[in-house]
Amino acid sequence: LQKDLEVLRSEPAETLDGHRIPLWVNTGLITDALRSLDRGAEGVGLYRTEVPFMMRDRFPSESEQQKIYRQQLETFAPAPVTMRTLDVGGDKALTYFPINEANPFLGWRGIRVTLDHPEIFLVQIRAMMKASEGLNNLRIMLPMISSVSEVDEALHLIYRAHAEVLEEGFDIDMPQVGVMIEVPSAVFQIRDLGLRVDFLSVGSNDLTQYLLAVDRNNPRVADLYQAFHPAVLTALKLIAEGAHEVGKPVSVCGELAGNPLGCVLLMAMGYDMLSMNATNLPKVKSIIRGINMAWAKRLLDQVLQIESAQVIAAMVQLALEKEG
Ligand code: PEP
Ligand code: MG
Repeated sequence: LQKDLEVLRSEPAETLDGHRIPLWVNTGLITDALRSLDRGAEGVGLYRTEVPFMMRDRFPSESEQQKIYRQQLETFAPAPVTMRTLDVGGDKALTYFPINEANPFLGWRGIRVTLDHPEIFLVQIRAMMKASEGLNNLRIMLPMISSVSEVDEALHLIYRAHAEVLEEGFDIDMPQVGVMIEVPSAVFQIRDLGLRVDFLSVGSNDLTQYLLAVDRNNPRVADLYQAFHPAVLTALKLIAEGAHEVGKPVSVCGELAGNPLGCVLLMAMGYDMLSMNATNLPKVKSIIRGINMAWAKRLLDQVLQIESAQVIAAMVQLALEKEG
């Protein structure tokens, strides 16, 4: 197995008929980053910055953050690293910043918190930018966007942070900025969002939760949390089409991207890149290397006619088994 992994690491993620789809990784700790390189990741599609925040008992200072981010950026340079701005609230708690709400998943989380606390946001953005000096492989990504005004407000702060670091004497290009698509409203404004930013990335974990109104962490309703629900697949297809209509690259960084069945459907929908846990990367790569894009597109067309998530998953599973 070790030998197989080593061979696979240097092979491209390319179908038999020559369709190439970059596979990136999701990270949080520096150990994730090191393990990812070992598995042949071509970039970081989601660095969850709340992870280092969760491991402390107070907000890390700007210079502390700069050091943490520098490690991630340096580990992958010149490959791109997509840093998501602080995504707390919902299922992600900071002991030193308690949020008590009756409906945390519908409450104060992600971009909503940081736009209400621009001082937290600006410190984080400045730290990211300073950390990228000389590397220029930073991409900034905004979580939990539900309307365009949030993007406009965040972009305004990002430009301000950039002006501030330049004024301090740093020499840094303006990084690419992207938006996570993980709230249903964002699906229906995909073009308006896409026009404002450089890239889009689907958070399929939250998008599934919000589309189906099923708590992603509640075991009682776990069987209703269906990644292959026809409504979820339809939304994913709309997102890919909308993003490409306005000429913007779109990826998936939720668990579905690292799912052996999910990756086939997402590739067929035209997603430009998939970002996943490093553990799943070799498996996804070997599946992609064993199939044809034309075959995957035909399978997707069939799947989109089906009304049941279970039948869809079974169909893709069977098709993959038959294919090799
Ligand atoms: C998602 O929601 O799919 C996602 C990638 O973000 P997180 O799992 O950190 O909420
Ligand atoms: Mg999310």
